[in-house]
Amino acid sequence: MLRTIKIQGDTWLQRDFELSPDNATIPLFTRHPIPSKTGGQFGAMLPDTVVLHYTGGATAEGAIAHWKLPATKASAHFVVDVDGSVTQCVPLNRIAWHAGESQWRSWTGEMRYRLNHYSIGIELVNPGALTCIRAASPDTHFLTWWGKRWPNEEACLAKGDWWATYPVAQLTALYALVDILGRVMPDAAGAKIREIVGHDQIAPGRKSDPGGAFPWNEMRKHFPTEQDNLEASEKPVQGTGASPASTGPRWLQAALCALSRLLAWLRRGRRAQESRQDAQTEAPGRGIGIWNRKTPRIGSQELRKDPDG
Ligand SMILES: [Zn+2]
Repeated sequence: MLRTIKIQGDTWLQRDFELSPDNATIPLFTRHPIPSKTGGQFGAMLPDTVVLHYTGGATAEGAIAHWKLPATKASAHFVVDVDGSVTQCVPLNRIAWHAGESQWRSWTGEMRYRLNHYSIGIELVNPGALTCIRAASPDTHFLTWWGKRWPNEEACLAKGDWWATYPVAQLTALYALVDILGRVMPDAAGAKIREIVGHDQIAPGRKSDPGGAFPWNEMRKHFPTEQDNLEASEKPVQGTGASPASTGPRWLQAALCALSRLLAWLRRGRRAQESRQDAQTEAPGRGIGIWNRKTPRIGSQELRKDPDG
């Protein structure tokens, strides 16, 4: 069944009403092109990778509005909202600016740099790490990085930090989207999706998304990767805010909350730094210099052919 459509030479997924009933797990599919944040064409047999992110915000509209700002040098192919709605912003055959400076030993065995040139970027609406307030007390609660109170039952502890969990509807839509991509990409771009990675895996130390709440084991069940590059993920502890006893002794809870506050403070500074870095590394033109400096093995021919982020 045809699941893609060509618009002015670019390839998009079909709209929701054209999706077959088995894709009903995506409740709404819309296109919202952002031509100003869309790069050149992928190379032959690409993209073959999916990079998962969280938006670090509250809504899909907010993420898209941010990408559309002239000063923002970032975009992604898809954004999946908390209710499972999917919006496509960049065509399947074109590079989006979601990975920035990154590197990854791919399923082919080659070391790849600047994964934008190899991957479809999917952003999940999620605030990311949370700050724990008043640990191990009846008033224990959580705040997003911008200060909004987050429901305790939607907070989880993983990798020594607190995270906002991903709703079932959102994950179900993500799995459906990845499944659709797996089937349409060979026809749409002459490429096959071989592996799915997190932004934190290709830019360790610089990025932390999709974060400790993302269920990698479940993802792998839905989409086994060609090469098992994914670390065995730590199983998140659900609802720890609501039932602190489930995660260990109170002194440990208090220590983790103190650490969480410190990390949140550091994160605020890091987010500002990340924005500056993204502006430098994902912008057309600026990225070329960084690519050349860091990855001399990549030929200048490819850079001339496809200079964006
Ligand atoms: Zn990211």
